[in-house]
Amino acid sequence: MSGDERKRRAGLDDPASSQAIAADIARVVVSRKRIAVRVRELAGRIAECYGQAELTILAVLTGSLIFLSDLIRQLPLKMRLDVVSVCSYPGQATRSQGPRIALPPGASLSGRHVLIVDDILDSGSTLRALQQAVALMDPASLRTCVLMQKVRPDVEDRPAADFVGFEVADEFLVGYGLDFDHLYRNLPDLCVLKPACYRRGAGATGREDA
Ligand code: 5GP
Ligand code: MG
Repeated sequence: MSGDERKRRAGLDDPASSQAIAADIARVVVSRKRIAVRVRELAGRIAECYGQAELTILAVLTGSLIFLSDLIRQLPLKMRLDVVSVCSYPGQATRSQGPRIALPPGASLSGRHVLIVDDILDSGSTLRALQQAVALMDPASLRTCVLMQKVRPDVEDRPAADFVGFEVADEFLVGYGLDFDHLYRNLPDLCVLKPACYRRGAGATGREDA
């Protein structure tokens, strides 16, 4: 297959996609077209659920940002937006210290209808920690929305998200906001990288901005 054909099939034939980034992709798992259709459906379900209520979205940095921006522009609701970062490996830690939540100073969720938006639900520890932290702030209601949910039969008692875009296999994904070692967030599709890219990388888990 020619380089151009490979780029076209990977959905990277637009000028914004460099040859270098296209060459790192092993496979497109969810195409930008499927994402766009599903995000519209999710927005419809969320709008239906909240009706006339004013919504407060709490977006988890940084992986949810592209999903968030597509989702909220399709929500015909009055809504506020806050962001939160979650760090499991503070400072030089190499073992998870458990998720630590950093809400913006002064964020008040009391009495608000809060919808947590994240990119992907994996072990569920991020979502569980956020649900516990937000519940302490006395919201009027609390729901969760993830673009993807990994199939993880090995994890017991994983918190369930209220709105889920896609069920995906347990493999490491990049693109549409998700990174590996700070790279690949700008890929328009959700992809798996070639194994050589992971070997080259410095290791990307646990950063504050995953
Ligand atoms: P959990 O706490 O559910 O185990 O993990 C959720 C967080 O881990 C997500 O918010 C995301 O930052 C990160 N994560 C989980 N799976 C993936 C993946 O396949 N790719 C990337 N880039 N990040 C992931
Ligand atoms: Mg994350």
